[in-house]
Amino acid sequence: MNKKKKARDKKGLDEAKASSSSSSSSSPSSSSRAVEIYDTTLRDGSQLEGISLTVNDKLRIASQLDYLGVSYIEGGWPGSNPKDSEFFTRAKDELELETSQLVAFGSTRRPNGTFEDLEPLINAGTDVVCIVGKSWDYHVTEALRTTLEEGIAMVVDSISHLKKQGKKVFWCAEHLFDGYKENPDFAMEILTAAGEAGVDCLVLCDTNGGSLPHEVGEITKTVLENIPETAVGVHLHNDTDCGVGNALAGVMAGATHVQGTINGYGERTGNSNLISVIANLELKLGIQVLPEGNLQRMATVARHVAELVNFSPNPHQPYVGVSAFAHKAGLHTSALSRKSDAYEHVDPEKVGNSTRYVMSEMSGRASVELKAKELGIEVDSATMSEVVDTLKRLEYEGYHFEVADASLELLMLGASGWEQPYFSVESFSVGVKHKHGDQARVWNELAVEMETEAEVNLVVSGQQVSAKAEGNGPVNALHSALDEALSPHFPEFKKMQLIDYKVRVLDTAATATKAVTRVLIETTDGEQIWNTIGVSENIVEASWQALVDSIVWGLRHQGN
Ligand SMILES: [Zn+2]
Repeated sequence: MNKKKKARDKKGLDEAKASSSSSSSSSPSSSSRAVEIYDTTLRDGSQLEGISLTVNDKLRIASQLDYLGVSYIEGGWPGSNPKDSEFFTRAKDELELETSQLVAFGSTRRPNGTFEDLEPLINAGTDVVCIVGKSWDYHVTEALRTTLEEGIAMVVDSISHLKKQGKKVFWCAEHLFDGYKENPDFAMEILTAAGEAGVDCLVLCDTNGGSLPHEVGEITKTVLENIPETAVGVHLHNDTDCGVGNALAGVMAGATHVQGTINGYGERTGNSNLISVIANLELKLGIQVLPEGNLQRMATVARHVAELVNFSPNPHQPYVGVSAFAHKAGLHTSALSRKSDAYEHVDPEKVGNSTRYVMSEMSGRASVELKAKELGIEVDSATMSEVVDTLKRLEYEGYHFEVADASLELLMLGASGWEQPYFSVESFSVGVKHKHGDQARVWNELAVEMETEAEVNLVVSGQQVSAKAEGNGPVNALHSALDEALSPHFPEFKKMQLIDYKVRVLDTAATATKAVTRVLIETTDGEQIWNTIGVSENIVEASWQALVDSIVWGLRHQGN
């Protein structure tokens, strides 16, 4: 790069600095600009520890992404492992995408390699491909162990070859932000060369995730000023807890393509969380990125994808968490009943979430009335006083309804005269047998063989029903026995899965001399999540109460 060009780059950076410090809001043109959302949950997202996706999982997640309406779904890296190759083969037959385009990811050709290196990518059969290549000189010479000329040629040749195959080509400029900070000349030289080779989008990557929003904004702006004819995107990680902020900074500087993952899943601390990125772009910056009306699908999609990757949805996740619009303080709730936007930064329905009024000992009658309204339960004035008194007593005994909405709903329904019509319980029992004496206590072996068996005796539709089942613990065994007994009558039982079970031993005011156990159970049917509670001196009894509430609530909300 010549001296004049370099001086221009520096000037661009200074101007970006000046403009970012003089205006804290979006640039005036941002409201009219379209921004593409590129999801990489299936590749970068699956790098998160604890996530392991089958091909079926990947296909189901891709359907969810299409339902949400992102522009691009990166399916994986064909050729890097059999699973990703199988995904692209099956996707052709099984995925019917309505709004999104599938993208195959891969690398540029190898140093001194041939176009054969690109074959698996081409053979994946997608119209769009995304290739990664190094843009930091240090990585070219030290990681690739090749010359800077060859580093540039690898990128340029690969883009040209893929363009000749008729593909839309995105180039992920790996380590671009770190590379630019170390050697802006080389970074700009390789980006310019990629642009001249006809790349459809230069994706600036913060691979190590250490950048801050002002840096992402400044560098993105400089790149756009120097290479104005090529679209620029950003791919950011969350290592400074700025994954979303960095994405917004990129867009405000002119990027028209944002990569990220659902719920921010990704290696280390994750990628930019697309759920928050999308909501912020649409609701705060006025940039529509999803098809009209699809923003309301966000909460469902965020929860569904969490289930598919087998993670508990984060209740405190902005916009879509169950607590994102939860109100506890009495002052808030009484004001909210009068004016709903007084304590909510956006209307929760816009993202498919809802306002929740959290019940606690702090709640007055107004909160309980609001809660009943939220749950759609009609309670007359006398019953309402009864419910308020019951709640106060139960909280005193150790119940904690703010985390058990489903049990609260059943309690209110009960007070208004509703009786659950599904089954009644005659008795249950659980037996746990440990057969190994002292020998079984081996610290590095978690799985000591135990025998756990439960039996339930119920009445369902006037018939006596008994069932026995084994389990890996008392709650699991009871759940399995209930499954045996109830599934033939209620097939939807099979959809319900316990996703969390929490136990706490409490010293409550009511039971100063003896401790009680509080059990919280979280259940899902793949779309909704509900929480129930049980309190007893006996842990099995407390678990049973929470379990029965969970099933009754589930059946009631499956159209029974
Ligand atoms: Zn990444």
